[in-house]
Amino acid sequence: MPLDIVPSVCPHDCPSACALDVERIKTAPAEARGRSLGRVRGAAAQDYTLGVVCAKVARYAERQHHPERLSRPLRRVGDKGAGLDAFRPISWDDALDEVAEALTRSAQRHGAETVWPYYYAGTMGLVQRDGINRLRHAMRYSREDLTICNALSDAGWFAGVGAKRGVDGREMAKSDLIVVWGGNPVSTQVNAMTHIAAARRERGAKLVVVDPYRTATAERADLHLAPLPGTDGALACAVMHVLFKEGYSDRAYTARYTDNPEGLEAHLATRNPAWAAAITGLAEDEIMGFARLYGRTKRSYIRVGYGFSRSRNGAAQLFAVSCLPAVTGAWAQEGGGALYSNLGLVALDHTLIEGLDRLDPTTRILDQSRIGPVLTGDPRDLGNGPPISALFVQNTNPMVVAPESRLVHRGFARSDLFVCVHEQFMTETAAMADVVLPATTFLEHDDIYLGGAHTYLQLGRAVLPPHAECRSNHDVICALAERLGARHPGFAMSAVELIDRTLELSGLPGVENFPEDGRLDRCPPFATGHFLDGFRQADKKFHFRADWRAIGAEYARLPAFPDHVAAIDDGDPDRPFRLVAAPSRSFLNTTFNNTPSSLAREGRPTALVHPHVLSGLRLVDGDRVRLGNRQGSLVVHARGFDGMQKRVVIVEGLWPNHAFEEGIGINLLTSADPGLPRGGAVFHDTSVWLRPV
Ligand code: SF4
Repeated sequence: MPLDIVPSVCPHDCPSACALDVERIKTAPAEARGRSLGRVRGAAAQDYTLGVVCAKVARYAERQHHPERLSRPLRRVGDKGAGLDAFRPISWDDALDEVAEALTRSAQRHGAETVWPYYYAGTMGLVQRDGINRLRHAMRYSREDLTICNALSDAGWFAGVGAKRGVDGREMAKSDLIVVWGGNPVSTQVNAMTHIAAARRERGAKLVVVDPYRTATAERADLHLAPLPGTDGALACAVMHVLFKEGYSDRAYTARYTDNPEGLEAHLATRNPAWAAAITGLAEDEIMGFARLYGRTKRSYIRVGYGFSRSRNGAAQLFAVSCLPAVTGAWAQEGGGALYSNLGLVALDHTLIEGLDRLDPTTRILDQSRIGPVLTGDPRDLGNGPPISALFVQNTNPMVVAPESRLVHRGFARSDLFVCVHEQFMTETAAMADVVLPATTFLEHDDIYLGGAHTYLQLGRAVLPPHAECRSNHDVICALAERLGARHPGFAMSAVELIDRTLELSGLPGVENFPEDGRLDRCPPFATGHFLDGFRQADKKFHFRADWRAIGAEYARLPAFPDHVAAIDDGDPDRPFRLVAAPSRSFLNTTFNNTPSSLAREGRPTALVHPHVLSGLRLVDGDRVRLGNRQGSLVVHARGFDGMQKRVVIVEGLWPNHAFEEGIGINLLTSADPGLPRGGAVFHDTSVWLRPV
């Protein structure tokens, strides 16, 4: 079978942003226009990816050539939510005309802010993801506050470090202790394990995992701590208490590089392991043992995950964890410090891609995580502004992924709401649309990518022709702009021209001068990467005293020093269980939840329930249970699992809504309450009851 291998970049919402080597198979011209996708491998030559990718992307051909890929523009002629049978094909011109007319009609009736272009990270490519903002700003449509993933974690990290970057992930291989806190890289970010494995193999490094349940990563760890969800801040405080008390704090480092070590030490005097044990549910000995291991290991590296930030107190929790290497001075060590995300490492000028020169700061901004309350007219979100009467959606599937699904579904079901969805598949959100437009995959369009876990800026060129009539997000945005009369130079440029000019504006080599393999390493010098030339606060110090006022409107509810913030939904006698809706290995949000191998591996929606709880309810593995709270209830199958505290229930996903008996998924139970201090989805901060069915 003749094939060639071409470079690409994984576009999915995953920090690894893997460099890929893609097999392109030459087929008969009649099939797939002469090219189809073979195996996808991690690029061995890119030294973060190091030849490794996750199984779901290795089998990307299943998704690329999936028989259910959308191939033509569609107009809905049947009921909302009924699926493909409710749609009829139309031409691209008719579809785009219809969408432009609907947006114009809505804006004429209610004002421009009635239109909400809604997107997220179905692709992480900057052109195909963020170009929607150029249309938004040119038309003065409602803005979108991107809170669903990283608002809480960003807030927590900025509070101490002051910039969205950390120590190069490749340095984990030079560490003597890696702490994976609130993440599960074996399942969701496999490359991290390559570097951790190297440290264990070559240096005898220890691996500690902090996670409320025994994940696949925790199974491989030397030590697993499983605090109750929402209590990681208490654990971090108790660890710091021990570090100070037992002489593990590097006082020369803290004097030079931190703002108020004496104040922190005094504040933590009462936050001892006994205090934290009562909050976290951990044993005092476990906390003490971890603190001492961390304290005596100079080269300690914390890989900060997102999980423990998805809580009402998530920013405060992440801030507390980020303080640990500042107490011991691990930031100064090779293989030491911490990494949350490097997405702020490369200072790219986003003006052209996002049309920031057309942004009118008086246009209203709506919280994407509160799409349910927004669409159902909650005055807390809409204020005195118009209702949302038109949505244009790219790169996301809010009918499944957004919290408080009941409200989201009710909102999308409104007969007076026009919806256009540009998608690769007939997702649950697309099924609610009036017009559906077929979208290209990353293999069929050009884009540029940053990586949260590494230091590369990567160029991914189209390597396959578009499937059927699919068009890229950029092409659709430009075509709509023309019909709507939106003016901006970016609408007249190709994706490559946008990338080229953006690189030039950012002082980086343009497309012609970019490395041939598309991989440009922007790793800073050691002193900068380790903040030895200062943290990115005005005084260049790491801040133990957070200035929450500078970060969000709800600052007054957060203490300045790291602490346990009891703002979580900690349950009550009617809802004693703490539900964590964790990511599964084979899905990525909803992106892979329709490929055969992912579905086969994941089985069915399942609640992991402590065996003592199961037997107390006279249930056995495989029995159906109902989980519920004020927002509703749903049925899943239960499986006994002893890798967590008895109050914890885990449901991995995200499964399609139709995988649940009553047609609505796990986000029925999660809350759209904004986390502190500036919003953020609180997916892992949910209390529920659990009953036999
Ligand atoms: S590990 Fe993440 S970035 Fe790498 S291939 Fe898988 S989804 Fe993509």
